[in-house]
Amino acid sequence: MFDYLIVGAGFAGSILAERLASVENKKVLLIDKRSHIGGNAYDHYDNEGILVHKYGPHIFHTNSKEVFDHLSRFTEWRHYQHKVLADLDGQQVPVPINLTTINTLYNMQLSSAELEGFFATRAEDVGLVRTSEDVVVKAVGRDLYNKFFKGYTQKQWDLDPSELDASVTARVPTRLNKDDRYFTDTYQSMPLNGYTRMFEKMLDHPNIKVMLNTDYSEIMEIIAFNKMIFTGPVDEYFDYCYGKLPYRSINFKFETLDKEQFQRTGTINYPNDYAFTRITEFKYLTGQKHHKTSVVYEFPTAEGDPYYPIPRPQNAEIYRKYKLLADQSDTYFVGRLATYKYYNMDQVVAQALSTFKKIQAETVERPIGSDVVAMVSH
Ligand code: FAD
Ligand code: UDP
Repeated sequence: MFDYLIVGAGFAGSILAERLASVENKKVLLIDKRSHIGGNAYDHYDNEGILVHKYGPHIFHTNSKEVFDHLSRFTEWRHYQHKVLADLDGQQVPVPINLTTINTLYNMQLSSAELEGFFATRAEDVGLVRTSEDVVVKAVGRDLYNKFFKGYTQKQWDLDPSELDASVTARVPTRLNKDDRYFTDTYQSMPLNGYTRMFEKMLDHPNIKVMLNTDYSEIMEIIAFNKMIFTGPVDEYFDYCYGKLPYRSINFKFETLDKEQFQRTGTINYPNDYAFTRITEFKYLTGQKHHKTSVVYEFPTAEGDPYYPIPRPQNAEIYRKYKLLADQSDTYFVGRLATYKYYNMDQVVAQALSTFKKIQAETVERPIGSDVVAMVSH
């Protein structure tokens, strides 16, 4: 008899498994339908011995000391600040758009103060900011929007930015200085020996049993457990009773090249050319030394594993219905797919830690198994 069945061995499921096992001394069965732990953050050594991320580049960054300290129990870190260039108009310029981007693109010598004025003359008054188009044209105007965001977003989501919530392109800021880091969070580091090693350490506990290659529907009826935590797609859990929630998927194309370095920085975005959105060279992220190099191309697609919830009003409306069911259910729903949120890894860790606190509080009020005892004693 397990105290908890946890479906999904990504960040959400693994963080909760470890907390429940080591703090609450609960017996946990953690299952995943894939052949490995780590969820979308899984990494492994490819045929040439280069560490790659199977589900696309994963760069860890957070402003939360709690999240960083928590993960630090399971890994040492390698300090890494990710940089991205956009390949457009025959040049490669920094993203997020900054002073260098504008001066290079338009062959100018603006100062930061002048750049503010430059943006102000181009910015459009869009009124209330609702969409991913509004965010960008309000900040930098239509020309830069067309160059950097319109085509990339169309490829990534198969939607025009005007059809997506503002939160999507708002992930990428605009800068008046020369700061060319993709993220500016307080903590920016990669797990020193990779994500998978970190997950292995997290799950190495006598109270945790891991079962891979197992869909939860195969074992639900044959394994005894008290409570369930679900981190897969919420619409699947409820048999799509309100219809399918749209998710965006990606085909990853990996290549190993017989040269030490392929491109100028960790990621190069291709907003307007090619069917792929970006190319990432893993050795920048991992710091690995190797005479060859491995890269991944990302080709967005509608079919395939669900990777990205699609933030737009009609999808929020479908999710709202599922959330009502989830709130009434005995199961806990945690993570990017189960709560239909475009969350980064650190946000999922934070969500899992707060779910753990909620479970602790509820268990104090009503200990697990108390229903059974009550039935027996009547
Ligand atoms: P997942 O990692 O998806 O784990 C859910 C698990 O549940 C999966 O392993 C799945 O197999 C399993 N599962 C689903 N259904 C079932 C079932 N029926 N039975 C059994 N098991 C099931 N975040 C960052 O912070 N930085 C980045 O640079 C970054 N880059 C990203 C790049 C890409 C291409 C993608 C797709 C995501 C990226 N993310 C990044 C986001 C990050 O992947 C997620 O925030 C995080 O992995 C979500 O963890 P999770 O546990 O919620 O979900
Ligand atoms: N985006 C864009 N051009 C870029 C980078 C990002 O249009 O050069 C938009 C695009 O819609 C993308 C979103 O901003 O999906 C968020 O970008 P981010 O790099 O955060 O995406 P992720 O790493 O989550 O795929």
